[in-house]
Amino acid sequence: MAEFAEMSKEELEQAKEAADNEYEELKSRNLSLDMSRGKPAPSQVDHANGMLKEMTEYHTKAGMDVRNYGVLDGIPEMKELFSELLDINADNLIVGGNASLNLMFDAMMRLFVFGAMGEKPWGQLEKVKFLCPSPGYDRHFTICETLGVEMIPVPMTKEGPDMDVVEELSGSDESIKGIWCVPKYSNPQGICYSDKTVDRLASMKTAANDFRIFWDNAYGVHPVFEDVKVKNILDACEEAGTKNRAYYFFSTSKITFPGAGVSLIASSHENIKEIKKIMGAQTIGYDKVNQLRHVQFFKNAEGLRAHMQVLAGCMKPKFETVLKYLEKELTGTGLAVWEEPKGGYFVSVDVYPGCAKEVVRLAKEAGVVLTGAGATYPYKKDPKDSNLRIAPTYPTVEELEQAMELFCVCVKKAGIQKLLEQTDL
Ligand code: PMP
Repeated sequence: MAEFAEMSKEELEQAKEAADNEYEELKSRNLSLDMSRGKPAPSQVDHANGMLKEMTEYHTKAGMDVRNYGVLDGIPEMKELFSELLDINADNLIVGGNASLNLMFDAMMRLFVFGAMGEKPWGQLEKVKFLCPSPGYDRHFTICETLGVEMIPVPMTKEGPDMDVVEELSGSDESIKGIWCVPKYSNPQGICYSDKTVDRLASMKTAANDFRIFWDNAYGVHPVFEDVKVKNILDACEEAGTKNRAYYFFSTSKITFPGAGVSLIASSHENIKEIKKIMGAQTIGYDKVNQLRHVQFFKNAEGLRAHMQVLAGCMKPKFETVLKYLEKELTGTGLAVWEEPKGGYFVSVDVYPGCAKEVVRLAKEAGVVLTGAGATYPYKKDPKDSNLRIAPTYPTVEELEQAMELFCVCVKKAGIQKLLEQTDL
């Protein structure tokens, strides 16, 4: 397809008329679809229904009755399963409750109220800043906003956050206390950090002694097309002599049931000790019944990985549908660029600068709800008004076909309109 930016005004006006007509035709179909959040489809969560069958054994191997109080950091078999799955020593992890976001918020709160390793609590500091690789996960940014943490966007590269920028900033500003990372199949771009990026994060000099990496490995075992290996940050920190720098988070939200999964936080022995002391005041223990249910369902890490292959099979046609439409309708137009993720939950599309909000508005008017424009940036401010996150997992393939047809028309309609405005200047 021709590059729209190279068209004459007359050609653009013709193209606009064609896009307008297509849009009106699609609008008349009265679609009603939601692609705004990364939720698995009902047919996908069905695959974990085995977990809902009646439990006949409610004791752990060591004889602990999971129906009663006991253990703060998780039942041994759940720790073993996570340990094997993520290659983390079982002593370095705590099994949490139903969601990892909760553990992330709590980790941040502990730093604000108690501080880390004898350092001043962040809540007593004039200013606390965090590096936010962007586009990124909106709920990380909401945690910062809620606690008054100033967010500094850092551009993403194909290998993870731009490490020249990260090193420069964290090495020179003591009030920069940490960074958010989604190292594998990142939300929203599906980027996997290179070993070099992981090593640089672990070994860089930081002006703050209590600099913390929030390593949110939410999509750590979620391949769709290819299982990519990402270096473990805890190992990298150990090698670099910065073992207290990283908190590692994970959950089974996108494995079994979102909102009813099992989460974990892992870190150095010292950090784990510090966390447990405060966590022990917060709870007697998390939901061990759910932990045992997960262990009984998967048996071991291998069982969980096999389950992820089944889920990849559910998601593959959906990702293929999104990519097929983008390629067919937008390749060569100069109106959009996108990532081709190997796994995870999203496809990230950068539309023509200044058009993301308009694309969301047009899609909504025609019955398709997209993630809000700007949501992938701190303070919801995308400086280019360009990034959009497509969440293809919830709709059926048939619904996605319709939604993507509309999406591409909206991208064209908004982009051509913007180009016409620019030719008028
Ligand atoms: N982190 C990332 C990067 C996510 O995309 C999500 C879910 N959308 C979460 C965390 C939430 O995980 P949980 O359900 O374990 O809180």
